[in-house]
Amino acid sequence: MNKIDRRKFIKSAGLAGGALSLAGAAGAGYSAGADKDSYTGYGRTNYGEDQFFNRKPFIVDNPTYVKKGEPVRITAVEDIFKRNGMLSRLMFSRGDIEPAWKPADGIDALPGQLRDYYKANPGALEEFIKAMEKGRAQRANWEKYRDKYFIADAWSTAHSSPIRGRGAFPAEPRDRPEKSDFRGVNKVKLEPKSPSHASELIKKICYSFGASLAGIAKVKKEWVYQGSLRGVGREDYEVPSHWKYAIVIAVPHEWDSMYANPTYGTSYDAYSKLRFIAGKMEVFVKELGYSSRPHVPPTSYDLVMPPLAIDAGLGEQGRNGILITPELGANTRLAAVTTDMPLEPDKPIDIGVSRFCEKCKICAEECPGGAIDFSDKAETVVRGYKRWKIDQNKCFTIWNSVATSHARGCRVCLSVCPYSRKNNWVHSFAREVDPRDPTGLVASGLLAMQKKFFNYPGGQEYLPPPDGNNRTFGEAPEWMKTDEWFKI
Ligand code: SF4
Ligand code: SF4
Repeated sequence: MNKIDRRKFIKSAGLAGGALSLAGAAGAGYSAGADKDSYTGYGRTNYGEDQFFNRKPFIVDNPTYVKKGEPVRITAVEDIFKRNGMLSRLMFSRGDIEPAWKPADGIDALPGQLRDYYKANPGALEEFIKAMEKGRAQRANWEKYRDKYFIADAWSTAHSSPIRGRGAFPAEPRDRPEKSDFRGVNKVKLEPKSPSHASELIKKICYSFGASLAGIAKVKKEWVYQGSLRGVGREDYEVPSHWKYAIVIAVPHEWDSMYANPTYGTSYDAYSKLRFIAGKMEVFVKELGYSSRPHVPPTSYDLVMPPLAIDAGLGEQGRNGILITPELGANTRLAAVTTDMPLEPDKPIDIGVSRFCEKCKICAEECPGGAIDFSDKAETVVRGYKRWKIDQNKCFTIWNSVATSHARGCRVCLSVCPYSRKNNWVHSFAREVDPRDPTGLVASGLLAMQKKFFNYPGGQEYLPPPDGNNRTFGEAPEWMKTDEWFKI
């Protein structure tokens, strides 16, 4: 029974002079049962009860990202995972195919897009080669750490199997969007009563599939990758005209393992949930008679997620580059489904994340790779918008350095962020009061408390010896400690 239910219970029982009346007990039981807070497992999520923050007072006319100059669409080669994938395919043999390029061949021997990119960003190539070396050392080191992180690794592999295995769900589009997004669309189509009815229904279905948060955004051209589209390949392609709206969904990582990043967490627990939710939404929207295409992690996206989620009113981008939401903080992972279903988009919100980040800088201090910008203001212009710069190459090297199996990586910047806290009364107070305080005093007070009461190991401490000591931000949950369960 939660706190409110207990109060209701005591009140109703107390009226009968302290004796528990049958009627009072029945009333309290009914009340406890009717409150979705009392549901277990996905019961709470199913009804949108995870999206409890009232966004209305913070709705703004313009999203909180700052436009500077002419917006530019992102190219595939600018995306670190797509770029590293292209280069890896050239560098490493597969079956009978010999490597087509080695570092000694030089940048000029690379094919067009990669050559141009690395000529303009030679540091990125150096960092990639360093990451590959670190990755080799990490794999050799893994023998040393495997027993300790045995459960954490098995847990991550279980989550990644629907993503990395053959039966990955949802299936990758095999054709141009004009074809694949309409494959299987029901010929029967009912007209929604209004776009707002349609949006409300879609969000309810997202929750029922397990989404913690859901929002609707209009698709802006500048959030769509250029020069790469799944089902089309690496070519320039107009943004499909039927990508009118994006249904944006978010889930958190499992909290305890996320706090124990880097060595106990995994990205795949949230990724696999998102893939199932988005895959089911694809089918659901097609069954309603409309086109749909899921965009899911880790790399099956045709759109950039954080600004899309800002447009969908879910939150704001932090110094760490991650979407920060009132409910989940930086522990927010994203997927989307694009569609031509007539929907009503949500409005962006401004809960003061940028103002808080200007003072905070905890993620930058704690990042083991020095990949996060320390500047006071978000002044770096990236493709036409201001933001704090993230050095993705340095981040990638850290993912290849920490004492985890290769796939699990870092995520320290999610764990240490003061917005990533559980939903207890202190954090509920902070969540509601700080965005309403124009003086900034609440933020300063919260930050001082944060730094005093939370233990931050600090930067390199998260790395394996000799650089660090394999420290984690929080204590690992007992169910993830191998020595509690196995003889090691
Ligand atoms: S994931 Fe780790 S290395 Fe990458 S930016 Fe966050 S803290 Fe830094
Ligand atoms: S840790 Fe601090 S600076 Fe970094 S994203 Fe979170 S609030 Fe912003």
